[in-house]
Amino acid sequence: MSRRDWDDEGDDARPLGGTRERERALKEVRSVYREADAAYAPYSCPASGECCQLSRTRRQPWLWQPEWDLLSRARPLPPLREDGGCPYLDAAGLRCTVYADRPFGCRTFFCERIRGPARQPAETVGALLERLERVSQRVAPTLKAPRPLLEWHAEALAASRDEEC
Ligand code: SF4
Repeated sequence: MSRRDWDDEGDDARPLGGTRERERALKEVRSVYREADAAYAPYSCPASGECCQLSRTRRQPWLWQPEWDLLSRARPLPPLREDGGCPYLDAAGLRCTVYADRPFGCRTFFCERIRGPARQPAETVGALLERLERVSQRVAPTLKAPRPLLEWHAEALAASRDEEC
């Protein structure tokens, strides 16, 4: 791992808060995502979008603060879907509309229909999760655990409604 790609362990251990620091955190999250994508490059799946039907699967990605920042910034907040699918699905409920910025959990979760090497890269995933936690703790030190995507989304929806009032 090069220091250039992952530099959250510098001498300055103060929590980050300003715009520059948040941009740096987003850059670091993208670096983690690239490594996750590389680890799963030998794998594929039918890409049915079924794993994005969150209420049906009763599973959802859990995001650290900078992951949510990356996902939600510079794009409109989508409404909840009536079918209980991820709000970031397209209208047909088949494709992710935020694929490049999709959370770590979306990049590393596959159902039993995954195709590829028998042994998934669990150690790499664990190490990358630790990196996400570290960078999140620098920009949001009070957040002690990742939060479900729908919780982040509901909170942001409520905040946007408050702003409209
Ligand atoms: S962010 Fe994209 S990949 Fe992840 S659950 Fe939502 S639609 Fe699916």
